[in-house]
Amino acid sequence: MVSIMIDYSMTSQQPAVRPNLAAALEDRGFRITRPRQRVIGAIEEQGEGFTAESLCDALQDVGRATVYRTIRHLLEVGSLCKLIMPDGTPKYSLARVEHHHHTMCINCGTVSEFRDSTIERALRSIEREIPDEIVGHRMEFYVVCAACSTHGSR
Ligand SMILES: [Zn+2]
Ligand SMILES: [Zn+2]
Ligand SMILES: [Zn+2]
Repeated sequence: MVSIMIDYSMTSQQPAVRPNLAAALEDRGFRITRPRQRVIGAIEEQGEGFTAESLCDALQDVGRATVYRTIRHLLEVGSLCKLIMPDGTPKYSLARVEHHHHTMCINCGTVSEFRDSTIERALRSIEREIPDEIVGHRMEFYVVCAACSTHGSR
């Protein structure tokens, strides 16, 4: 059962295009071994905002090194997004193909994606002021999600 919580309210109504994890790895010459397949299955199940530890917990019979290595390969091929929680903990989320940013609930860790052309335009104009070559940017919004703020006020 895969539950993916994505907030489209700030972005277009198009469903996100998600890469096929196994195919993405195979295309880059990674062999899909059985343990790796297990890791991919667990990632597809957890989907948004999981940690390496939560994968290790779900995959007791797969070595931790395999879990961490598979995450690293998926980051390399662009199939996962790496997010940093306010306390510095890295979290991962299935990537969609287009450039996007995330909101993360500081309470429950729910990750949502958004795309905003106004923000991207503003960033580009800032980037023009920076003399060095810009190769990327990172921006995350830390939120208290609707579910958590409802619980908190009752
Ligand atoms: Zn993402
Ligand atoms: Zn929350
Ligand atoms: Zn951006």
